[in-house]
Amino acid sequence: MENCIFCSIVDKKSPANIEFEDNNIIAFWSIEPKAPVHILIVPKKHIESVAKLEEIDAELIGQMVLVAKGLAEKKDIAGNGYKLIFNVGTHGGQAVNHIHLHLIGGAQLEEIV
Ligand code: AMP
Ligand code: ZN
Repeated sequence: MENCIFCSIVDKKSPANIEFEDNNIIAFWSIEPKAPVHILIVPKKHIESVAKLEEIDAELIGQMVLVAKGLAEKKDIAGNGYKLIFNVGTHGGQAVNHIHLHLIGGAQLEEIV
């Protein structure tokens, strides 16, 4: 998708600090980390948000969660715990309209819910 920063990172046209990549998913550090560990798990397929998910994407979303779990272990934050967050739409604070899962941890995080 043109003019999408995450598609541009997937295509290696924009730089990113990549932590994981396979055929379907790329994961890289947020440029504005909100905690010691803040990695974005991003499907290579351009899907705008959770609001645009379809049944066919179910396995992909499952893979994203499993990648997040694996990265939490790799970054040694699994023991103390972490947050996994999908921001959705305006009230959800979604700034990039290419679906992504935030893996945030490495410190005690504020309670949202
Ligand atoms: P959201 O508010 O859920 O859409 O989150 C967007 C996330 O993408 C934030 O953590 C931003 O810091 C991050 N972000 C935006 N542009 C880039 C970029 N070029 N490289 C890495 N992270 C980015
Ligand atoms: Zn995109």
